[in-house]
Amino acid sequence: MIHLAELSLIADAGYDTTNLAFGDFQRDSGPTSELLRLRMANALHGSLVVDEVLQRFVREAQTHIRRFSFRYRNREEDVIYDEGRAYAHRANYHLDLHGSSLGNITISRSQPFSPEDLRLFESMLCTLVFPLRNALLYERALRSATIDPLTGVQNRNGLRQHLDHQVLLAARHGTPLCVMMVDIDYFKAINDTHGHAAGDHVLIETARQITAATRTSDGVFRYGGEEFVVVLSSTNLDGGRRLAERVRESVRKSRGKAHGNALSVTVSIGVSAWQMDDSATTLLHRADARLYSAKHQGRDRVVSEDLRA
Ligand code: GH3
Ligand code: MG
Ligand code: MG
Repeated sequence: MIHLAELSLIADAGYDTTNLAFGDFQRDSGPTSELLRLRMANALHGSLVVDEVLQRFVREAQTHIRRFSFRYRNREEDVIYDEGRAYAHRANYHLDLHGSSLGNITISRSQPFSPEDLRLFESMLCTLVFPLRNALLYERALRSATIDPLTGVQNRNGLRQHLDHQVLLAARHGTPLCVMMVDIDYFKAINDTHGHAAGDHVLIETARQITAATRTSDGVFRYGGEEFVVVLSSTNLDGGRRLAERVRESVRKSRGKAHGNALSVTVSIGVSAWQMDDSATTLLHRADARLYSAKHQGRDRVVSEDLRA
C-alpha cells in the first residue's frame, strides 16, 4: 500500500518555486498518465543499484520528454549521479519520503520545459520514489556490513571484496598493485597501562593517520584487532614502500594527540606487490610475512619484499 500523501515533492521550475503536494499528481490520473507510470514501474523493477535505477529512470523519461540533462544529489548517502551537462532552463525537485530526504533532482536543457513536460516528469517521479528508496536502503545495508564501527574504515569483509576485484584488474590489465599490512607495536601494553578506552582512541587515530597519509579512504581496512591493511591500486613496490614510510612517520608524529597523556605509538609495516598468478590470499600472506620480519627486526619499521630476489 503506497501512502502517496506522505511523499512531498518540492518543485522549483525556472525562477518560480512551487510547492507541489502529492494530491496535485493524484488528480492527474488519466489513462495516459497511468500507462506512463506502468511503463516506468516496469523499467525500474528489479534493480537495487542506485545508479542503475536512476539510469533506467532517465532512459524511460527521455522517451516521453525531449532530451534533457539529469542530475541527482544525495548528500546523506554520498550519492552523485549525472547524465549530461547542466543547461540554462532547469527544474529542481527535492524528494522527501516520511520526512526523510531522498535527495535532489535537477533536470535541465537549452530549450524551456513546457508545463506538459513538467507535468509528465512529475508524474514519472512518483514512480521513481519507492525503487529509489529501496536501492538507497539496500546500498546502505551493504556498506554498513563492511564498515568497522570503531574506526569507520572498512572491515575484513570489505577487504575481501575489494582486494579480489583489484587482483582481477591487475591480472587483466597488468597494472601494479601493492598491499601494506600495518600493525601497532606493543598495543597490548597501551591497553594494559592506559585502559581499553585509550586503546580504542589509539585505534581510531591510527586509522585516521593511515587514511590521511595514503590519501585513500576506500583502500584502508581494519584487518583485525590492531592490524590494518592498505590496498594501493596502480602503485608499484617503490611507491608502496614510500607510502608505508609516510604512514609510519605520521603515526609516530601523532604521538600524544591520541590521548591526554603523551603516548608513544609506533607501527610496523609489511609491503608486498602483486606478481603474476598472485591471489588476494597469497598477496596478503606475503605482506604478513614482511610484517613479521619488521617485528622481528625491532618494530617501528617498514619491510618490503625484494622483487629481484
Ligand atoms: P606486537 O608489537 O608484537 O604487535 O605486540 P602487540 O601487543 O601489539 O600485539 P598483541 O597481539 O599481543 O596484542 C594485541 C592486543 O590488541 C590484544 C587485544 O586485547 C587488543 N585489542 C584487539 N582489539 C581491540 C580493540 O578493539 N580495542 C582495544 N582497546 N584493544 C583491542
Ligand atoms: Mg601489535
Ligand atoms: Mg597484531
